Amino acid sequence: MHELSLSSAIVNTVVKHAGGRRVTVVELRVGKLRQVIPDTLEFYFEFVARGTVCEGARLEQEVIDARLHCRECDHVWRIEIPAFRCPQCGGSDVEIASGNEFEVEAIEIEEAQCIGQR
Ligand SMILES: [Zn+2]
Repeated sequence: MHELSLSSAIVNTVVKHAGGRRVTVVELRVGKLRQVIPDTLEFYFEFVARGTVCEGARLEQEVIDARLHCRECDHVWRIEIPAFRCPQCGGSDVEIASGNEFEVEAIEIEEAQCIGQR
């Protein structure tokens, strides 16, 4: 169910930035560690967007790989399953370098003028 609250957060953010203009595309960066199911997120986004400037907007989701960073030797590596030890130096003083993203990267707005209408 956390896709529903994420969808609300996206729509709120975009509505704030759109300033009343109709939004056509919302680009999203989603880190793998967020464990978001893209189809589910899209479903809830459409639902939450109804009646807002986001209604009918396309949601583009860029999935960001999970990476860890070793603070001892500065090595950065990609992980599939969380394993919190550096494979390069064996150090355990590591931090998440990426994979926790959940942010609206960009939005596209419909032109104010009516295009193709006379
Ligand atoms: Zn290391």
